[in-house]
Amino acid sequence: MTARILDGVKIRDQVFAELKTEIAALTAEGIRPGLAAVLSGENPASQLYVKSKIAACEHLGLASWLHTPPATVSTAEMLKLVDDLNLDENVDGILVQLPLPAQVDTKKVLEAVDPAKDVDGFHPVNLGRLVTGRPGLVACTPAGCMEILRRAEIPLEGVSAVVLGRSDIVGKPMALLLMHANSTVTICHSKTRNLPDVLRRADIIVAAMGKAGYVEADWIHAGATVIDVGTNKVTDAKEAQRLLQHFPERMEKFRAKGSALVGDVHPDAVHVAGALTPVPGGVGPMTSTMLMSNTVKAARLRRGTSSAHADFRATRSSAIAQ
Ligand code: NAP
Repeated sequence: MTARILDGVKIRDQVFAELKTEIAALTAEGIRPGLAAVLSGENPASQLYVKSKIAACEHLGLASWLHTPPATVSTAEMLKLVDDLNLDENVDGILVQLPLPAQVDTKKVLEAVDPAKDVDGFHPVNLGRLVTGRPGLVACTPAGCMEILRRAEIPLEGVSAVVLGRSDIVGKPMALLLMHANSTVTICHSKTRNLPDVLRRADIIVAAMGKAGYVEADWIHAGATVIDVGTNKVTDAKEAQRLLQHFPERMEKFRAKGSALVGDVHPDAVHVAGALTPVPGGVGPMTSTMLMSNTVKAARLRRGTSSAHADFRATRSSAIAQ
């Protein structure tokens, strides 16, 4: 048996096509959604990440702005910048790229972002709205996982879902989203006992723990759906052999490149699962896709004209996003 591959790149292209239409319609109404990115310091991974977000904005027709305060920026200066962006009518989404320089109080800065513009979905107000089942801006990675499940028409109601990991940005919101979709959810973490037994009862597994190939193929029951959030760079040849020995082409690439990207689930799971997101090319592309989607959603909710939007604006003074 070989699992159906849940191709994140294909789903991203579908979502992008839909977003382009929606952005064009909003722009015709005089509302051009826009994303402001704040990037401080010289971290190459952050620079690459932000550059790709700006490129995605341009591709979709979103307005974008890049603010690059110097690495010596203070917390007060960052707060002032965030405040200016909060007040700027043209800015619908604010992306504060982490990590911020060490002297900056990151928590303070993230909590200063207007929840209505919190397109990363990290603000406690948005997490609170998710807990209480009210619409809001949801963290991009779990939102992307749900989009994959929905578009692949994986049944969620009444099924047993196990989420591996309980971080604020992936595990917890993921578990809440599945619960709201009427799955019966178990959350596992580093203190969970008998993990293989818990996983063997799962119809859906979402792995977000950050450990290369930790979930063995025989911990997965035949036909289960596996959403692999993990993105782990493997550089050790022995580890690569353990993970990729049944995938000669990937092993070949590892030898040539000296590294391979592997999820939290052992790649052999492809022979057991019913459906599975590959790493790379599964959840990864969906995270940035949902950032774009959240920016459009934030614009619609904050600046749209229907009565639902008016309700939303009425709650803005209490810093609540829909
Ligand atoms: P994190 O904050 O480090 O959280 C890891 C979670 O895994 C923790 O809750 C931890 O439990 C749990 N865990 C660790 N070892 C475990 C074990 N042996 N058994 C069960 N649970 C265990 O990580 P994160 O930010 O949620 O990210 C998780 C992974 O997803 C990382 O590989 C990250 O790179 C990847 N990621 C990918 C994307 C994407 O776009 N594809 C986006 C975000 C994250 P405790 O709470 O007990 O410590």
